[in-house]
Amino acid sequence: MRARIEMIWFLIFIIFLLSCSRRRVITQKIEKEKIKAQLEKLAPVNLTCDLSSLSPEKVQVIKLLIKASKHIDDIFLMQVYERNLDILRELEENKDGDEKVYLEYFNIMFGPWDRLNSNKPFINSDPKPPGANFYPQDMTKEEFENWIKNNPDERKQFENEFTMIRRKGKKLIAVPYSKYFKNKLHQVSDLLREAAGITTNSSLKNYLYSRAKSLLSNDYYKSDLDWLNLSGDIEIVIGPYEVYEDNLFGYKAAFESFVCVVDHEESEKLLKIGTYINQLENNLPIPDKYKNFNRGSLSPIKVVNEIFNAGDAKAGIQTTAFNLPNDERVREAKGSKKVLLKNVMKAKFEKCWIPIVNRVLSKEDLKRVSFDGYFNHTLMHEISHGLGPGNIIVNNRKTTVSKELKELYPVIEECKADVLSIYNALFLINNNVLPRKLEKTLFPTYLGGMFRSIRFGIEEAHGGAVAIQMNYLLDKGAFLIGKNGRFSVVDWKVKTAVRDLAREILLIQARGDYNGAKRFINKYCNIRAQVRSALNKLKGIPIDIRPIFPIEKEIM
Ligand code: ZN
Repeated sequence: MRARIEMIWFLIFIIFLLSCSRRRVITQKIEKEKIKAQLEKLAPVNLTCDLSSLSPEKVQVIKLLIKASKHIDDIFLMQVYERNLDILRELEENKDGDEKVYLEYFNIMFGPWDRLNSNKPFINSDPKPPGANFYPQDMTKEEFENWIKNNPDERKQFENEFTMIRRKGKKLIAVPYSKYFKNKLHQVSDLLREAAGITTNSSLKNYLYSRAKSLLSNDYYKSDLDWLNLSGDIEIVIGPYEVYEDNLFGYKAAFESFVCVVDHEESEKLLKIGTYINQLENNLPIPDKYKNFNRGSLSPIKVVNEIFNAGDAKAGIQTTAFNLPNDERVREAKGSKKVLLKNVMKAKFEKCWIPIVNRVLSKEDLKRVSFDGYFNHTLMHEISHGLGPGNIIVNNRKTTVSKELKELYPVIEECKADVLSIYNALFLINNNVLPRKLEKTLFPTYLGGMFRSIRFGIEEAHGGAVAIQMNYLLDKGAFLIGKNGRFSVVDWKVKTAVRDLAREILLIQARGDYNGAKRFINKYCNIRAQVRSALNKLKGIPIDIRPIFPIEKEIM
């Protein structure tokens, strides 16, 4: 009897040990102070818009779309790391203690790795698997490549953007998202259908029904096409899109969602600008033979306000614009759509941009900066990507600018878009398409914004492009540096310098001049001492925002 009781106690003890070892997934964490310092780099901000103009029907639809998006968070968590749900559970169990900063940071990072610090772990010490959880954690690149070499008929499924790669015994298998995330995707799909049943907007109804179907069939082609037709107040993106999370091959698409409300005033302005595209091309400061009137029409741009996001879109640094879908078949058949998130831009402008210019611009120019200038510069930047040489002829050979400029293309193209943004905005102001008052704010806002772009280095195309412009305009005397180290603008010189710079860049592109691009970049793409000392003043300014979505409480 006694032996039996002892046996029972022993068994209970073993079960207790087992349950402990099953539950405890977190074995170490970096110091709390370090997490707090990281959190301070992200300024919390409410992201919303005026919903009072929306009908009860639209509010009801939005509510369902937000509900559906919340499941996207869970799916993305599973895509990032196989142990994410266990870690999350353990953090939530302790969330009332003073350790809740870990939960907060985990929820921003969607995993135990710090996206603001080269993905170093802040919980446990495992390095982030390069292929996230899209592939088995222990699978190497070689193993994957060998597998498809030996099983060529499986290549398509293995490289497909919508499959997870798993082990089955000694085999590797490709499991469609629709199967792997079956339960979650069914819930998302049901909510989309419910929303489709309520909305009276036929384009939205169409998209929601076809997207609900895609999630279950794993075929996104038709719903991607339908998304391009969306009209009306609600702009929703939901599904697997970007492949950046897959650092092993860049094949696998991560789930994300953006729930947005269209800004009609800005969208109307865009329609008007769209009618000037040929005039803008014609006005470029290059000989006519280099102008490109065959680019077709402008790919549509929509301006929206984000009221909720989820998954990949929510992790780490916040997106201010996206261009979708990525499916080349859809792009060829129907093009793509660019969406600018105006309230996200405004939040970044207030929290991360204004504090920067406060430290680097002259007093006079500080008075002139405005969100309007910033927003229009971004808008014109996007439009300007669609202007200038694209398909070109070099030595009687048909080619493209990007093929000729190779690795130098991104920085040259970003530079073109930035500088043409100012050049084209001036043209539209002179033609009364954009308001006259914009001119006053455009130049200092352009200069101020440069510091934000080069703050994170000039290796990346946008930062590099800005370094080129900064140095070029300084050399032309269009930007001045005062004794106090603050920067200012000489308006009339900016106008001619921008024109000259635009011409140089466009000619490099038109001639596919790789060596010219190289020389230009070597000369201008660097950070000079005075710019460096201005950048040194920016320590402690938030690098991005941490969105809070009031709608969650308001309407849920
Ligand atoms: Zn760009």
